[in-house]
This record gives sequence, structure tokens and C-alpha cells, in this order.
Amino acid sequence: MQALIGLGSNLDSPSQRLISALRALQRLPGLTLCHHSRLYASAPVGPQDQPDYVNAAAALTFQGSPHELLQTLQALELAAGRQRLRHWGERTLDLDILLIGDRCIDTPDLQVPHPQMTRRAFVLYPLMDICADALLPDGTALSSFLEQVKDQRISPLAELERDALIERENP
Ligand code: AMP
Repeated sequence: MQALIGLGSNLDSPSQRLISALRALQRLPGLTLCHHSRLYASAPVGPQDQPDYVNAAAALTFQGSPHELLQTLQALELAAGRQRLRHWGERTLDLDILLIGDRCIDTPDLQVPHPQMTRRAFVLYPLMDICADALLPDGTALSSFLEQVKDQRISPLAELERDALIERENP
């Protein structure tokens, strides 16, 4: 199955948290990381007295059920020492399942498409890097939501900074 996931962090070296998470995804059995976006800096949603976030998106294929993918991502969040101090508050690593092919899932612990994804610049901009023509299960183009999020502050991190981070991780 194919999935698109969102990654976010705003604590403890957020860029490096995301690079480490992408590398951890590359190493997981039963999962293939196909593409990932640039890293973006974005304004926090919710409480404003928290640092900016670093966000990215990734496309992967995986074996097993959607709930097993959720458990895998939650295990990575925990391994990153995830702290969650308050609702919509700062966190060391947040991994969200955004889309799984054209599946619709509505269970207490997993909703796909992710209910907030079309309202967040920090989800849509990274997704445009890796799948600009992606559709929701109902056929709506994700790109059609960009206009509605254009006032949300987001910008790609400088290429140099990103390359330096990857270099440090992968000498
Ligand atoms: P948050 O920390 O705000 O990302 O919320 C985590 C909670 O959202 C977990 O308890 C998950 O069970 C639930 N959840 C529901 N749908 C999703 C999804 N598509 N991706 C990740 N977590 C999800």
C-alpha cells in the first residue's frame, strides 16, 4: 500500500529530528521510503508561545494494515522521546498519516485522509514537493486547497542548511 505522511517537530533540534525520522523510516523492514520533501519552517497552529515548527512530507509503501503503519509511526515518535505538553502544543516528533492510496478510514484512533490536512499550509506545501497532482479519495486535487492556506506563514529551509544537516547525518 502507498501512503503519504506528514512529519513535524518544534523541540530539540527540529530539523535533525526530521532527518533522523526519515532515516529511521528508510531502515524499517516492510516499509520503503520513496520520496521526501524539502524541510519547511512554519508558524505554530494553536498556542503561539511556542517555537516555529519544521515540517516535511514523505511518500512510502508499506506492508501490513493501516493500523500497523500507525503503530510503527507511533513507535518512532516514542523513540524520539516524544513529549506532548499540551493540545496543539510543542512536540519533539509528530508523524501523521495523511493519505493511504484512495482509502477512507474512520476509526477512533485513525482517520484517513487526515481530517486537518487540507487546512494546513505545513501539510500542503511539503506535499506539493513530492506529489503535486495528488488527489483526495473523492477526486479533489490537493493543490486546490493551496489558495485557502496562503496566509499561513511557511517557507522552505535554506538549501545550504538542509544539505549541511544531511551531510552531518550521512558523512
Ligand atoms: P496528534 O499528536 O495531535 O498527531 O494526535 C495523535 C493521535 O491522533 C493518536 O492518538 C492517533 O491515534 C490519532 N490519529 C487519528 N488519525 C490519525 C492519522 N491519520 N495519523 C496519525 N494519528 C492519527
